[in-house]
Amino acid sequence: MSNLDVIAFNLRAVRERIAAAARRVKRDPEGVTLLAVTKGVDTDSIATAIAAGVGDLGENRVQEAAGKIPLLPPARWHLVGRLQTNKAKRALELFGLIHSLDRPSLAEELSRRAGERGRGVEVLVEVNVAGEAQKGGVALADAVDFVRYAAALPGIGIQGLMTVAPLVADPQETRPVFRALRGLADRLRRLAIPGVEMRYLSMGMSNDFEVAVEEGADLVRIGTAIFGPRPVEPSREGVGYDG
Ligand SMILES: *Cc1c(COP(=O)(O)O)cnc(C)c1O
Repeated sequence: MSNLDVIAFNLRAVRERIAAAARRVKRDPEGVTLLAVTKGVDTDSIATAIAAGVGDLGENRVQEAAGKIPLLPPARWHLVGRLQTNKAKRALELFGLIHSLDRPSLAEELSRRAGERGRGVEVLVEVNVAGEAQKGGVALADAVDFVRYAAALPGIGIQGLMTVAPLVADPQETRPVFRALRGLADRLRRLAIPGVEMRYLSMGMSNDFEVAVEEGADLVRIGTAIFGPRPVEPSREGVGYDG
């Protein structure tokens, strides 16, 4: 098979696995959006995924995305990696949804830049459920306060939550992490904070997306299982960082 055939084949397999996981818990598979994560992936391969019907794409780094997005057919782009405050303006130009809002200074800068543009910004709040020191994301215990703070800033539209689970050999071990994120979303829904909608739970990657779907994910972020191993695999510590 050519590289392009492999991508189409992998996509079908991933979609079938998502659908099977959804059916196991009596969810509608249509309720789960596959987001193809394209960091380290060349534009021909990304174009193949778009041609195969992928409408949502994710990048980790603003600079890498800025080089690729103009070369590709229109799609909805998501920023899934950590966002440096000094790249907030560029991020707003490139991405429809930012998954990695995780600190007040970034919320303030996004609010300011959204104001300049005269257009609100849609974000997910990233939560570091497992409390891994090297990862981005607000601590679970601080999440409600942070959501209240960020949602009160003009132009910030919180659309849900995102997490990156620890990398473990047995994906079943990630279940409590996903369950905790879902529990937080339920709690936030009950609090009905103005400016906060819990439309998306962004959770699940190549290693653990089936467990995430069983636990309520509606955006799964998948790179390797579609495009194969990345040429230079960043260490898990580096995952999500816009370095
Ligand atoms: C790289 C990355 C993904 C995709 O990871 P795979 O294991 O290749 O599926 C998803 N989410 C984030 C935040 C990432 O950095």
